[in-house]
Amino acid sequence: MSLQILSERSVSAEDPLDLMDEIEALKKEKDASILAHFYVDGEIQDIADFTGDSLKLARDATKVTTSTIVFAGVHFMGESAKIMNPEKRVLIPDMLAGCSLADSCPPDQLAAFQDQLRAQGRDFQTVAYINTSAAVKSLVDWIVTSGNAREIIDRVPANKEILFVPDQHLGRYLIEVTGRKMILWPGSCMVHEVFSIQDLIRIKKRTPGCVIMAHPECPQNILELTDVVGGTEKMRQHVMSIEKPTTFLVATEAAMIHPLQKAAPQHTYIPVPGIIASTGETCACNRCPHMSRNTLQKVRDCLKNGGPEIEWKDYFQQARAVLDKSLLK
Ligand code: SF4
Repeated sequence: MSLQILSERSVSAEDPLDLMDEIEALKKEKDASILAHFYVDGEIQDIADFTGDSLKLARDATKVTTSTIVFAGVHFMGESAKIMNPEKRVLIPDMLAGCSLADSCPPDQLAAFQDQLRAQGRDFQTVAYINTSAAVKSLVDWIVTSGNAREIIDRVPANKEILFVPDQHLGRYLIEVTGRKMILWPGSCMVHEVFSIQDLIRIKKRTPGCVIMAHPECPQNILELTDVVGGTEKMRQHVMSIEKPTTFLVATEAAMIHPLQKAAPQHTYIPVPGIIASTGETCACNRCPHMSRNTLQKVRDCLKNGGPEIEWKDYFQQARAVLDKSLLK
């Protein structure tokens, strides 16, 4: 977490319960619904109308009946909500909440690389992970999330090559599970890159009988040690399917512990990397600095001020056709 974000939080003297009441009243007054990603603070998830992973929230955004959507997540998620709901006003609590993974694939560089492949006579389709800007989405054939990637890749004709952007780790994992050859874009997520294999091995040794769950954005060496590989919704479903109290080592953004605890409180969850102190306490430094920009104050302020707002751009139309066929059909 950056120093700037720490200081933003520490200067706030507002009572979270008062803020929650204020947000509830503003939601009614402004005819608004709140969508919150599993990676934002638990207190924001608690006041949201919809919570989930990228796939669920993209689908939920089409079910919202209010005229305004507040998207507590990162910028590309707000863009996707606007693309799916052009007639609605889409607000995000902080315009600077970006995504290192989305930033690793700028649209001009992708377009140039696609031109280069075409000039070489390569016959390919481009598959993009949902963590991309709307401008990138408008350049690709398919959009996938960690929840539906396998199913979508099966829809790419077998005689086509696949250019997969932007996450090289997810791409490598998908090559393994689908058996398809892919050209991988060299992008990655700053949060999922930091997991230390040494830490994971150490905690596993100290926690007999534990189950390791990791997001497919994690590097291959982490996935090789993992018992359950899956996106956030798959993790939630998995812990709910097990009755016996179990200790899970969770390798993804640390805020994910909140929905897991709510869904299956009988288990113990240890975020990875977790340093087990002599007191038995754990700590983790795997918070996404972009997701952490979302605070209750900013949710309240954006409802009150009607901004920052995601504005419609011409290329959203093409991105919409791709999102539509990939996520809704
Ligand atoms: S956790 Fe990684 S992929 Fe997710 S929003 Fe943050 S930087 Fe992007």
